[in-house]
Amino acid sequence: MGRKRHKNKKFLMGRIFTMTFFLPASIILFTSMEGPDMDQAFHNGLNLFRDPTSAPYIWSLLFLLNFCLYLYLKPVLIFNSRCIKKNSPGEKMQKIAAKKFNNLPVFILSISVIGFLLGFTIEAILKTHTEFNSVSLFWDFLDSLSTGLFTGTLMYLNTENLLFPVKTKVFSGDTILEQKYSSYYRKLFLTMFVIVLFLLFQMFSYFSSIYLLGADKAIGGVKPPLFDGGDFLNMSRENDPVKEFMKVFFVRVFIYFFYFMHLLRQLKHMIKNPLETVQEKLEGLNSDEPQFSKQIDIVNNDEFTQIYGEINKLIETQQRNLERSEEQLETIVDNAADPIISFHEDGKIHVFNPAAEKFFGYKKEEVFEKQMISLIDVPEAIKKQCQIDNGVFIEYISNFETPLKRFTGITKRGEKINFESNISQCETDHGTLFTTIIRDIRGQIEFEENLKKAKNSAENANRMKSEFLANMSHELRTPLNAVLGFTQLLSTDKNLTQGQLDKINTISRSGEHLLALINDILDISKIESGKTEMRDTIFDLNQFITDLKEMFILKCQTRGISLYVEYAGEIPRYVKGDLGKLRQIMINLIGNAVKFTNEGGVSLLVGREDGTVRFSINDTGKGIPEEEIEKILQPFMQSSNVDHEGGTGLGLAITNRFIEMMKGKLEISSEVGRGSTFSFEIPLEISEEAPVEEKNPGTVISIKGGKAVKALIVDDKVNNRLILKTMLENVGFITMEAENGLEAIERTKEFDPAIIFMDIKMPVMDGYESVRQIKDTAQGKKIVVFALTASAFKHDEKKIFDSGFDGFLPKPFKLGSLFRIVSENT
Ligand code: ADP
Repeated sequence: MGRKRHKNKKFLMGRIFTMTFFLPASIILFTSMEGPDMDQAFHNGLNLFRDPTSAPYIWSLLFLLNFCLYLYLKPVLIFNSRCIKKNSPGEKMQKIAAKKFNNLPVFILSISVIGFLLGFTIEAILKTHTEFNSVSLFWDFLDSLSTGLFTGTLMYLNTENLLFPVKTKVFSGDTILEQKYSSYYRKLFLTMFVIVLFLLFQMFSYFSSIYLLGADKAIGGVKPPLFDGGDFLNMSRENDPVKEFMKVFFVRVFIYFFYFMHLLRQLKHMIKNPLETVQEKLEGLNSDEPQFSKQIDIVNNDEFTQIYGEINKLIETQQRNLERSEEQLETIVDNAADPIISFHEDGKIHVFNPAAEKFFGYKKEEVFEKQMISLIDVPEAIKKQCQIDNGVFIEYISNFETPLKRFTGITKRGEKINFESNISQCETDHGTLFTTIIRDIRGQIEFEENLKKAKNSAENANRMKSEFLANMSHELRTPLNAVLGFTQLLSTDKNLTQGQLDKINTISRSGEHLLALINDILDISKIESGKTEMRDTIFDLNQFITDLKEMFILKCQTRGISLYVEYAGEIPRYVKGDLGKLRQIMINLIGNAVKFTNEGGVSLLVGREDGTVRFSINDTGKGIPEEEIEKILQPFMQSSNVDHEGGTGLGLAITNRFIEMMKGKLEISSEVGRGSTFSFEIPLEISEEAPVEEKNPGTVISIKGGKAVKALIVDDKVNNRLILKTMLENVGFITMEAENGLEAIERTKEFDPAIIFMDIKMPVMDGYESVRQIKDTAQGKKIVVFALTASAFKHDEKKIFDSGFDGFLPKPFKLGSLFRIVSENT
C-alpha cells in the first residue's frame, strides 16, 4: 500500500492537469454535439476546436483554466513535494496550503463557471453575425452556467480526491488548522444539485432544439408530432429528421451517463479515502510493527473527525491501562521480598529484581549478559553441556521429581547459598520465559539437619532403652527365679509346719506380684517402642469365656460378690485373633471390676455385631469420677475414688493400647457410687476350623519307675542349676551340671544326655554358640535342647530357634511350664 501511495504522489500533478484539461474539453465537445444527424452533430462539436473563429478562444480558455489552477495549487504541490523529500514544509507553508484547500471548491467552481460563461459570450458574439434569437440566447446562457457548475463540481471532487493524502498531511500534525467546506453532506448535496441542474438545462436545450427542428424541418407544414401529443417514439420512426435527432440525443444521454458515473465515483472515493485511512491505522495498531504511530491523524471538520477522535481516545485509554498494568507488575516484582529471576530459553537473564541483586550480589546490568546457569552450582558435566546447548539446563531443572526444587546458588563473591525455587514456564512477546521465585532455605536446612540429628539420637536413646529393659528384665528375673523356684520346691516339702507353709506362700505371692509388675513394665515399654506384635491364632471363644469365669469365680465368692456371664444372641464358637492379648485385656478388666467392687457383683456381657464381638464388663463398684475417666488410661494413673492395694496404674494403659491394636476402642461409662462399665468391640474373624488341641499344661510327666532320662543343666548361676536340678530329680531325671557353653559340649560327649537345659548368657561360651556346635554333631542331633531365658523380647525367641534350640523355658521356672515343654518336645 505504501508503494502505491508513493507512486500516486509522483504522478499527482500529471493526473490533476490531465483531468482538468480533458474533462472540460470533453464536456464542451459533447454538450456542443448538435445537429440534424450524428455526423453533423459530431462535426459541430469538433468544429469548436477546429474552426478558426472559435478554436483559438476555446484552446486559450482551456489553457487559461489550467494555468490558473496551477498557480492556485502551486503552494500545495510544493508542500507535498517537501513532505515527500522529508523536509519539514514549515508551518507557514502548511497554513498557505490549508488556505488553498479551504478555498478550493469556490475557486474551481468559479473558474469553471467563468470559463463556460466566457465561452458562451464569445459564442454569442460570433453568432450575432449570422442569427440572433433572444430566447435561445437566454437558454444558452443558463445552459452554459449549469454546465460550468457541473464541470466545476466534477473537477473539484476529482482534484480533492487526488489531493486527499496531501490534505491529510496539511490538516493533521502538530498544528491543527481549521478546515472549511469539508462536510460530506454538503458535497453530496452539491453533487445532486449540479446533476439535476445540468439535466434540467440539457432538457431545455433539447426542447429548444427540437422546437427549432420542428420549425425548420416540418414537412408539408406539419408540425412535429411531439407537439401534437401523439406517440413520439412511434412517429419518430416514420419521421427521418426526428429519428436522426433522437440518435444524437441518445448518444449524448449515454455520454452524460458516464459523467454521472464519474461524479458518483468521486463521491465514493471521497468516503472511501478517510475510511481507508482509518482501516490502515487500525491495521497498523494491530500489527507489531513499531513504525506506525499509535494515533490516527485527525482531519478536522468532516464527519469522520468525531470517529477518529473516539478511536484515538480508545487507543489512549488502552495504552494508559497497559502502561499502568506494566507499571504495577514492575512495582510488584521490584518490591518483592523474594528474589525473582526470569530467563530465556537460551539461558539469558531477562528479569533480575532488587531482591535478587541483594541475594546474588550482582547488579542488574551485570547479569543481563550472563547465563542463568552461571548463578547455580550444577554438576560440572552439565555445565559443560549447557555451554553448547542450554536445552540441557532446561531439561536438568525440569527433571526434578518435586515441583519445588532445591539448588545451590553461587553469589558474586563465590559464596554458596542453598535456595528453594519453583520454576514456571510461559510464552510471552519475548519468547518462552522461565520464571523462578527464590527462597533462601539456609535456616531451614540447618533446622532439618538438627532435626535429623535429634531423630538419630532419639532412635539411639530408644535402642538403648530397649537394651536396658532387656538387661534389666534379665537381671530381675534371675534372682526372682531363685526366689520363686525355691518357694515352689519348699511348698512341696511335707516336713514343714503350717506356719512355715503360710510364710512360704507369702514369699511366693510377693514374688508373683513382682513378676507381674516386671511383665507390665515390659509390656508398656514394648508398646511404646512399637515392638509389640500381633499373634493371631484360632481359639474357642466359649471355652475362653468359661475359663475366665472359672478364673475369677473363687475370688468373687471370697469377696462376697456375684459374677455373671451373659450372652447377647449367638456367638461364634471358633474365632481367629490374638488370644494372648485378649486374655490379658479381659483379666485386667474383670480383675479391676472385682478388685474395686465390695457389694453387688460383676457381670460380663458378650455379644456379636456384624463381624465384630462386643465385650462389656459391668460392676456395681465405687465408680470413677467423670473428669478422671480419660486420665486413668494413661500409664501410672489411678482414680482418686478408690484405695489402691498394690496397683501400678499400668493395666488400663496396656489394655487400651491392646484394644486399639486389635482395631477396637475402649469405652468407659461410670458413675461414682453406682459402678462402671468397660466395653469394647473388636473384629474377630469366624473360623470353620477348630483350634489345634493344646496339651494340658502342667501335666506332670512322671518317669519315676520307668527308664531314667538323662538331663544336662547348663547355667553359670548355681541357684538356677540347683532349682532345675531339684525339680527334675523329683520326677526321676538323672541330671548333670555344666557352668558354661564349652563345658556343656564336653559334658554332652561323656554324659550323652537326652535333654539339655541351656542358659543363653554365660561366660566363656554363650548358649547360642554351644547349641550350634552340639547340634552339629551326629550325637547332638538326637538331643532335645531347651533354652533357659529371662529375655522379654520376641526377636530373641526367633534367634533361639534359629540357633538350633528345640524350645525354651522362660525364667523364672515354673513346674507347669517345665513339664509342658518337656512333654511337648520329647
Ligand atoms: P491398677 O488397677 O493397677 O491401679 P489400672 O490401669 O488397671 O491400674 O487402673 C487404673 C485405675 O483406674 C485404678 O487404679 C482405679 O482407680 C481405676 N479403675 C479401673 N477399673 C475400675 C473399676 N472397675 N472401678 C473403679 N475404678 C476403676
